[in-house]
Amino acid sequence: MPDRGTWVDTHGHLFLLDEDPAAVLERAHDAGVEWIMCPGVDVATATASEELHERFGDTVLWSVGLHPHDAERWEDQRADIEALAARSHAIGECGLDYYRNLAPKDAQLQAFRDQVALAGQLSKPLIIHCRDAFADVYEVLSGADLGERALLHCWTGGRKWTKRFAELGVSFSFAGPLTFETGETLRIAAKHVPRDRTVVETDSPYLTPAPHRGEPNEPAFVRHTGETLAAIWGVDPDEVARQTSENASRIFNRA
Ligand SMILES: [Zn+2]
Repeated sequence: MPDRGTWVDTHGHLFLLDEDPAAVLERAHDAGVEWIMCPGVDVATATASEELHERFGDTVLWSVGLHPHDAERWEDQRADIEALAARSHAIGECGLDYYRNLAPKDAQLQAFRDQVALAGQLSKPLIIHCRDAFADVYEVLSGADLGERALLHCWTGGRKWTKRFAELGVSFSFAGPLTFETGETLRIAAKHVPRDRTVVETDSPYLTPAPHRGEPNEPAFVRHTGETLAAIWGVDPDEVARQTSENASRIFNRA
C-alpha cells in the first residue's frame, strides 16, 4: 500500500480535453489518480472513449449513453448505443436536465427510461445526470431497482433529496462545486450521504475545483474535491481516498 491515498476520478470526459490524453493521464498518475471513468455522451464520444480504453487499458474505463441535452436523437442512436453497451463498462451518461432544457421533457424521459432499462437488462452500472429534475429521476429510478449501481454524477441535491435518494440505495458522486464558495448547501448535503456509496469525480473539462478555478479541469484535480469531502466528514483525506476508491471499484466492477 502506498502511504499516500490513491484516487479514482469517476467522471472525466477525456475526449473533450485539448491535449494528448497521455500527458493528462501522466499528470493524473503523478497526482495519485489510479483510474478514470470516461463517460460517452453519444455514439461518437462513446466510441472515442472505448478507443482510450484500448490504448490505456484499465486506467481508463468507458461508458456509452445519450446525454439528456441530445435526447431527441435517441431513436437514431439507440441501436448503436445498445450494440456498444454490450461491451462497455457502464451505461450513461444519461438522465434529465430541466435546468437547460435543451430537449423536450418527454424526449428526455423516454431516452432516460430506456437507458435505465438497458442497464437493468445488462446488469451494468448507470451514470446519471440529474439537474433540477430530482422528482422525475427519483420516480424513474425507484421503478428500476439498480441499487448502488445507479450513480448520481455531480450530485447537487440538498439535504432532503440526498436523504431520499440515499434511502433508495443509489450512489453519489461529488464534483468541483463541493469546493466552491457557493457550495454551502451541497456541503451540508455531503454530511448525509452514505459513505460506503460515495465517490468523487472531476467532470473534466468542466467544473474545475478550487484552487484551480479558471483553468480547464483534468483528472489530476480530483483530490481537491476529495479533500473537501474529508474536511466535511472530519476524517483524513487518505481515508476518503481509500473509501471512495474502494466504492468506485465495486460500483464499476473493476478488480
Ligand atoms: Zn458528464
